[in-house]
Amino acid sequence: MSIDLVTRRDWGARSPKGSYSTLSSTRGVKVHYTGGRVDPAIVNDHAKCVTLVRQIQNSHMDGNGWIDIGYSMVACPHRKVFVGRGPNRLPAANGPGLNSGHYAVLGLVGSSGLTQPPDGMLHGILDAIEYLRANGGAGREIKGHRDGFATECPGEPLYAWVRRGAPRPGSGQDPADPDAVPWPGRLLSYPPIMRGDDVRTWQKRLVELGYELDVDGAYGPQTRNVTRAFQRDQGITVDGIVGPESWGAAFAKR
Ligand SMILES: [Zn+2]
Ligand SMILES: [Zn+2]
Repeated sequence: MSIDLVTRRDWGARSPKGSYSTLSSTRGVKVHYTGGRVDPAIVNDHAKCVTLVRQIQNSHMDGNGWIDIGYSMVACPHRKVFVGRGPNRLPAANGPGLNSGHYAVLGLVGSSGLTQPPDGMLHGILDAIEYLRANGGAGREIKGHRDGFATECPGEPLYAWVRRGAPRPGSGQDPADPDAVPWPGRLLSYPPIMRGDDVRTWQKRLVELGYELDVDGAYGPQTRNVTRAFQRDQGITVDGIVGPESWGAAFAKR
């Protein structure tokens, strides 16, 4: 699959406030997260991804005083890749002195809310990296922002993936997580009642984990209540909605 680019025109980027420093090559790429809360609803609404990227650009330009968004590229849950500064331009997000060594790629996850990168986002990050290799002379390294800089970024889930060698989801090259069931890509919630194989998979998993409920493929009040109990037990957001965080918490326990 070729990269699904969101051009600066597509996302309504502001023009840069100055001229970029150029780069002919880098040692590789550093992966970032937003650091704040990301509304889990973005996974069902790409328009919200666009809004969030614009907000990030505004805070980088108006808050940090940078000439543009600090990232080279941004990957959202829908396997779309936003052009930030793009290839051959010095990013700003890696920290002073660290920008000429690596391009900066942001995954739209945060320190709360949406914290687990959906498969589409991991693919998008890798699509961005391949694009930067092909068009910007990026080298083979894939690192996290925290490598060489004092920050939590890119957060535990994304950093763990980077440390495993940033495998393509579903490629069978992920020995740390052989039985992981990928998140189905839609939020499971009630009301109204939602039906599907993903609901059945979720219910079956809750039963395996010791919860009592009917495995009937219908997400109604019973499944919502048991999901809330599961979320409470996990210490994660108790909203009765199954998104990447709850799904990841359940299937990480295999
Ligand atoms: Zn960062
Ligand atoms: Zn999106």
